[in-house]
Amino acid sequence: MLEVRGLVVRYGQLTAVHGIDVDVQEGEVAVLLGANGAGKSSTLNALSGVVPAAAGTVTFRGTPITNRRPHVVARAGLVQVAEGRRIIAPLTVRENLELGAYPVRSRARRAELAAQVADLFPELTALADRPGGLLSGGEQQMLAFGRALMADPVAMMLDEPSMGLAPIVVDRVVDAIREIAARGMSVLMVEQNAAAALDLAHTAYVLEQGEITLSGPADQVRDDPLVLRAFLGVE
Ligand code: ATP
Repeated sequence: MLEVRGLVVRYGQLTAVHGIDVDVQEGEVAVLLGANGAGKSSTLNALSGVVPAAAGTVTFRGTPITNRRPHVVARAGLVQVAEGRRIIAPLTVRENLELGAYPVRSRARRAELAAQVADLFPELTALADRPGGLLSGGEQQMLAFGRALMADPVAMMLDEPSMGLAPIVVDRVVDAIREIAARGMSVLMVEQNAAAALDLAHTAYVLEQGEITLSGPADQVRDDPLVLRAFLGVE
């Protein structure tokens, strides 16, 4: 589904990502773990076309998407939900969702997608006329998700979906990701909350200073001494 080979990301003299390989299969949830500055966001941003890949290839459903512009990547079916939930504050929930559907031409398909989002996040239906900026952090995260789903993606990339959320809201977001994956969506996520992410994910990658130092099935990665110490706080 998503195949990344030898991805390099540079900012001037600084190499943030040093030639990594990542694979995400259909319906799979894969998580990238790593400390601050390890290169997690740079990886997602290079895949979605927000920052350039200095080397390497990205293939999505057999189509090369290396260094394609973000809207081209989104039209190919790979959609990123941004860190910090960049919803448009003055626009209502409904308007934010409608904006998300920009790559979808068919009105009938847009209506189907809106119904799916309403089913997944009933909370948003009640908030349809409220400006996005007045939502709570958890509601904004749901709206960011909903907006990405309106683009009719085949795979989604999530950058720190639980950041800044209360534990109960984190559970809600985790459930939503699980539900989306159960419906066949592939998910590649970056997450600081390693315990929640490893529970959810099938596959995990550990990034250290731009290199993958460990990868494999999430339950094996969870038991690795380095992961226990560095991310799960176990001595
Ligand atoms: P965090 O969780 O803190 O976002 P991260 O693992 O996502 O960390 P990145 O944000 O990808 O890491 O950053 C990797 C490295 O690249 C860091 O050294 C960072 O300072 C640098 N970097 C990231 N974005 C830029 C940029 N736009 N310009 C210059 N350097 C950058």
